[in-house]
Amino acid sequence: MAYQTVNPYTNEVVKTYDFATKEEIQESLATTHSLYKEWRNQPIADRAKILHKVADIFRQKEDELAKIATTDMGKLFKESKGEVELCALIADYFADHGEELLAPTPIATRATGAAEIEKQSTGVIMAVEPWNFPYYQIMRVFAPNFIVGNPMILKHASNTPGSAAAFQAAVEEAGAPKGSLINLFLDYDQVGDIISDPRVQGIALTGSKRGGQSVAKAAGESLKKNSMELGGTDAFIVLSDADVKKAVDLAWRARLYNAGQVCTSSKRFIVADNLYDDFLAQLKAKFAAVKPGDPMDPKTTLAPMNSKRAKDKLQAQVDQAVQAGAQVYYGNQPIDLPGQFLQPTILTNIDQKNPAYYEEMFGPIAQVYKVHSDEEAIELANDSELGLGGIVFSADPKHGKEVAKQIETGMVFVNTFLSSLPELPFGGVKGSGYGRELSSLGLMAFVNEKLILTA
Ligand code: NDP
Repeated sequence: MAYQTVNPYTNEVVKTYDFATKEEIQESLATTHSLYKEWRNQPIADRAKILHKVADIFRQKEDELAKIATTDMGKLFKESKGEVELCALIADYFADHGEELLAPTPIATRATGAAEIEKQSTGVIMAVEPWNFPYYQIMRVFAPNFIVGNPMILKHASNTPGSAAAFQAAVEEAGAPKGSLINLFLDYDQVGDIISDPRVQGIALTGSKRGGQSVAKAAGESLKKNSMELGGTDAFIVLSDADVKKAVDLAWRARLYNAGQVCTSSKRFIVADNLYDDFLAQLKAKFAAVKPGDPMDPKTTLAPMNSKRAKDKLQAQVDQAVQAGAQVYYGNQPIDLPGQFLQPTILTNIDQKNPAYYEEMFGPIAQVYKVHSDEEAIELANDSELGLGGIVFSADPKHGKEVAKQIETGMVFVNTFLSSLPELPFGGVKGSGYGRELSSLGLMAFVNEKLILTA
């Protein structure tokens, strides 16, 4: 697909970008590789200073960057601003903690001599990223690898080229050496060529199962380490002792934030039978109160979806679910605005034979299920090919935590919103992928943990 910004609120084609040429790709590989070699002999502290400057620039340019993201993919301007601030936090975190986390670790050994693990850079990283958080997704890979000393080539989503270019410009403005991050507008074959180049030593992808399978296959063929952050059908479990109002206050935001286009959005609400009717009624009231409109307008509370393609795909999933017996408890009516809006919708009565039961619905659609025990809730939550995150809601945090321990995902939050912070690891299990981003775990993704034994 061509790289193009099409404003999802106005449908205006804002800008189209050319694909990278063979020469640009070769030059990028040469530049990033030579920087990798140069960085091996430079102190981490030098890069930490630059990374703090990247954070400063993100903060100084918050409005400008936020507007570019909103124009690219339609999210509410205030949510774009929050994303830019989160990027600054991530950059600061790795600038502050990188050196300490990358310090050699001694190992007690029976061997003669002193053993330690050195943490070294490995080479150029290829990052393939999605549109839903067009800066944060890049920063999650860029900041740790910059500190480690792994330069990065970026292939961003074809509908967020403005954000990709703005990210690279911010890094350059911070004084990062040429090749620290090179954004290229690549087609899929070109991504494959870069993955197989010997100078590239790691591949990080966030995206769909289909994209992940294809990129992981290419990485596997070249025996390159890779991390996959894929989709989720996260459960929001409301236990029988929960306060419904508090649960719903969290639930509607957990579903509609970023127009529901978050891998860790709560997508399946699994509610104890004693609270089910009340939960549905209160969730409906919250969904009915959102105000679709211009994402730049502070009064708007529901953004358009990122593209016509995404909206049509989700509408088709809803239609199929209804045909297969799901009931529309609320929503599924057209919104009379030119942008790519879908009305927040609540679906009930979804059984295992319904395709919606196992599908990820990447937009403002809530599936609500009734259960009769904690065990049934856990079984339903785990009856998914995916295992990214989840929320458990209970009046008793201990009870909530006991249930959380039994959920087969990479992250579970008890009585709180599933938030991403630089110090918290992010990632999933099962079909949601492998590896972790952010935190000390994410920092080590593409590090050579090298044993040196000195006798
Ligand atoms: P896609 O997989 O289609 O796109 C993600 C990125 O991968 C884009 O840059 C895309 O490029 C690229 N891509 C896709 N296929 C290939 C290929 N064969 N070769 C090379 N590059 C490829 O994902 P969506 O746009 O559908 O994004 C939404 C998905 O991402 C959802 O499933 C969501 O849950 C998941 N996601 C996961 C997150 C996590 O952290 N676990 C976070 C956010 C989203 P192009 O745009 O050119 O097609």
